[in-house]
Amino acid sequence: MDNHLYHNSNNSVNEAEAVWSKCLGVIKDNINYRTFQTWFEPIRAVALNGSVLTLQVPSQFFYEWLEEHYVELLGKTIKRILGREAKLEYRILMESSASQRNPASINMPASNYNKPSKDSNYVDMPLKWDDPTNIKTPYAIPGLKRMQIDPQLNANYTFDNYVEGDCNRVARSAGLHVAQKPGATSFNPLVVFGGVGWGKTHLVQAIGNEVRRLHPNKAVLYVSAEKFINQFIDHSKNNEINDFIHFYQLIDVLILDDIHLFVPATKTQDVFFAIFNHLHQSGKQIILTSDTPPKDLEGMQERLLSRFRWGLNADIQAPDFETRQHILQVKMKQEGLEIPEEVVKYVAYNVQTNVRELEGALIALFAQATLNRKEIDLDLAKRVMKNFVKTAARELTIENIQKMVCEYFHLPYDRLLAKTRKREVVQARQITMYLAKKFTKSSLKNIGEHFGGFDHTTVIHSCQTVENLMDTDTEYKEHLLELQQKVQLASI
Ligand code: ADP
Ligand code: MG
Repeated sequence: MDNHLYHNSNNSVNEAEAVWSKCLGVIKDNINYRTFQTWFEPIRAVALNGSVLTLQVPSQFFYEWLEEHYVELLGKTIKRILGREAKLEYRILMESSASQRNPASINMPASNYNKPSKDSNYVDMPLKWDDPTNIKTPYAIPGLKRMQIDPQLNANYTFDNYVEGDCNRVARSAGLHVAQKPGATSFNPLVVFGGVGWGKTHLVQAIGNEVRRLHPNKAVLYVSAEKFINQFIDHSKNNEINDFIHFYQLIDVLILDDIHLFVPATKTQDVFFAIFNHLHQSGKQIILTSDTPPKDLEGMQERLLSRFRWGLNADIQAPDFETRQHILQVKMKQEGLEIPEEVVKYVAYNVQTNVRELEGALIALFAQATLNRKEIDLDLAKRVMKNFVKTAARELTIENIQKMVCEYFHLPYDRLLAKTRKREVVQARQITMYLAKKFTKSSLKNIGEHFGGFDHTTVIHSCQTVENLMDTDTEYKEHLLELQQKVQLASI
């Protein structure tokens, strides 16, 4: 009969347990009690076939930890009890199997240890974990070949396709810096914060990908706070907190996304605190994101908040009009789409909330065009956008125009309303009046009143001045046309 069938026979199990219990006696004398409890008590001896002892371990991670730290001790001990020919084999419980009754397992030789050694009292083996990437995440299904941390990165998020703009310049360049010298800059931790869909995840993933490109030997791990919390809960149920912490302590660049989710989870904060300290002390890089400025994270432990301040807190703002336009162009290029510039402007103008919606608008537009076999033009864009964003068909008011002019000239709103003869203010005021007359149905009197009480003759005079200047000053005209286009876009 096939030998394998005897693997779990009682006889073999009993023998295995007897041998293992002798081994444990030896091991106990050689290490401290806590280590013994953590790493040896959970081991079950499940079979003894000739001189091959099979040990069952609770997880892939556990197996790797044993192999790295205790293979020598294990090897020596087993040889002492079973003789020179003794061999060790592991059975690893697969973590993916939820069912406790019928746990899946894989067998694995202790390959390094089984290598013939010249001196039977000394197991000579290279340290497998010299290469820090040579391990697996505790939640991944164990693979037998190359054991590697899966960095959990999305290769599509790179610096190349991360558009730089006023809204993200500081965070982006800090990110690049960190990617070049992970753990070796003062930006540790790097905390990127900003609103939903403003590009936090993209940026930190890009950092991860860049580190992998520049430093292939560094162990990078991207994990969402949500996943981290769930892993933590799973491991605490199974009493494997140590595995969990140890695993995270092996990472060189830890990217933890959306840490605001830690706020109600105090136990997770505790465990993260331990991991943070270890990594930081060992010069490892920590990268965090949050949708709330760290200082406003109510419910986050002060000791964590103070550590977040050790490094750089870089905010990302809502993407401005120029950046939105640029992002659309990059996405179109990626998708091989061609869309007329006026449509790009229209979409960029009307979808202001976040980049994810901007992408959604582009997809909706493209879908409509394909389905209806139509060119993407402004008409189509208007129809699609109407369903897409509430803001699309907004009434243009004098205030809207005032704000647009202020933004265009970088003029504070209250300056525009001030009764001053300063040239730049006067000019902006005239232009605003001109645009208000052209794009709203307001009376001249009403327009005048919106500037703190000018009468209608001033408004008429302003409009004439603007028209005259347009005829004589080409630079002025260019500015005005650009501004007028913005106002026009806002009005459709
Ligand atoms: P957050 O994590 O802040 O909620 P994401 O990083 O998930 O936002 O960004 C949402 C989407 O917008 C992603 O598809 C991302 O690629 C894209 N995106 C955000 N910012 C940029 C940018 N500056 N350049 C290019 N794409 C961007
Ligand atoms: Mg995100």
